[in-house]
Amino acid sequence: MSIPDVVIVGGGIGGLSTAFALSRLGLQVRVLEQAPEFGEVGAGIQLAPNCTRILDDYGLLEKAKSRGVVPDRMVMRDAIDGSDLTLLDLRDLARKYGFPYLVIHRSDLHSLFVEACRDAGVELLTEQRVTSYTQNAHKACATTGAGTAHEADVVIAADGLHSVARQLLVDDQPISSAYVAYRGTVPIAEVDRPVDLSEVVVYVGPRCHFVHYGLRGGDLLNQVAVFESPKARAGLADWGTPDELDAAFAETCDFVRQRLPHMWRDKWWRMYDRNPIDTWVDGRIALLGDAAHPPLQYMAQGAIMAIEDGWVLAEHVRRLRTDDGVVDWAGALAAYQAVRPEHCRRVVLTARTWGELWHLDDLQREQRNVLLRSRAVHDYSFTDWIYGPTALFAEDEPAMFEPIPLASADQVADDLANSQVG
Ligand SMILES: Cc1cc2nc3c(=O)[nH]c(=O)nc-3n(C[C@H](O)[C@H](O)[C@H](O)COP(=O)(O)OP(=O)(O)OC[C@H]3O[C@@H](n4cnc5c(N)ncnc54)[C@H](O)[C@@H]3O)c2cc1C
Repeated sequence: MSIPDVVIVGGGIGGLSTAFALSRLGLQVRVLEQAPEFGEVGAGIQLAPNCTRILDDYGLLEKAKSRGVVPDRMVMRDAIDGSDLTLLDLRDLARKYGFPYLVIHRSDLHSLFVEACRDAGVELLTEQRVTSYTQNAHKACATTGAGTAHEADVVIAADGLHSVARQLLVDDQPISSAYVAYRGTVPIAEVDRPVDLSEVVVYVGPRCHFVHYGLRGGDLLNQVAVFESPKARAGLADWGTPDELDAAFAETCDFVRQRLPHMWRDKWWRMYDRNPIDTWVDGRIALLGDAAHPPLQYMAQGAIMAIEDGWVLAEHVRRLRTDDGVVDWAGALAAYQAVRPEHCRRVVLTARTWGELWHLDDLQREQRNVLLRSRAVHDYSFTDWIYGPTALFAEDEPAMFEPIPLASADQVADDLANSQVG
């Protein structure tokens, strides 16, 4: 085999999208995937404008739209009483940010990148489980358990939550949130009550939430049920089982409870993240995607961050390449390192807090509901920092939102009551 410019370890959405981004610049890229085939397990995925902007740049947006659904609204409801709490007008949001909010089946997004990589000449190798990394001043090398060494100018490790390469940079472990996700896709013809597929809906409840939206042009309903496992909290190994699913949603509204029998009950996903780290690059080896910044899923930004990572790296490669094609890899990796860890640190930490807010109970749940109901529909102060253009340089990273303390709900409620009296 010839020596490629770049070896990417991991053929998930992060690895493949990065492979495509680099190969369209004319680089020779090889992707090493441990599985016997390239594929994605799971159900739907939400792609916000900070991702569809990049898909558009890649010339893949129209194809993605044709395989997914562009909904009109994202609605948040209380899971106990079913009432509306707040909404995002996704058509207006698309006008504001210039690109749509899209929902798509994971396997459809993944296959879009597989096809794009094939067309761009990326070398896609399966059954290559990388177990070690080495490097010198000129090359980096990823070696498989079977002993095959893959050398390149740089190695990008996009090997997910349980990344082997991450151990080069930090001695840490995934952190269990004690929450577990059940998924399920149902042909819309088999859904026993009307569901408005122009909406992405999230029902938030005490220690649980439920999400649904349409996929494949509205042919499929995607559903996700997430809850805190008492067995996980008690330290038991056997956690997240279907009996816990039913118990966790016992107090939720009819709509949510009636959807539970339609979840896949033989497979569930325990939810982990890791603490942010600020160094992702070790010489000629760099982390990318979940390997660098696995989040809890509450902001729906995990795959998006991975896609942004690849786009940012490729843009710096484009900028730091001489006319005869020689890449200043030290410069490109330094530029990547200078901007991405801080952005992803913000997302990972905000995802934790956002999830806690969804799962509040009692008085705090009521306070949250007051604040969410008081939000103006077209107030984008909480999304500007995330849905705007992906920063290429640290100074372009937008300011974050101002958090609103839960306790301020009492004042908001008083003001509302006074205005109604007046
Ligand atoms: C319930 C749920 C809902 C989510 N919803 C969203 C959403 O709406 N929007 C969003 O943006 N994100 C969402 N996410 C997050 C998103 O799925 C992940 O962040 C994203 O898939 C990470 O992609 P990745 O390519 O970095 O890693 P992975 O998808 O984990 O891919 C890693 C790849 O590397 C391979 N690999 C691993 N180790 C090795 C090795 N040693 N050698 C070779 N290959 C290896 C694996 O087989 C795999 O193919 C959600 C996550 C969950 C759990």
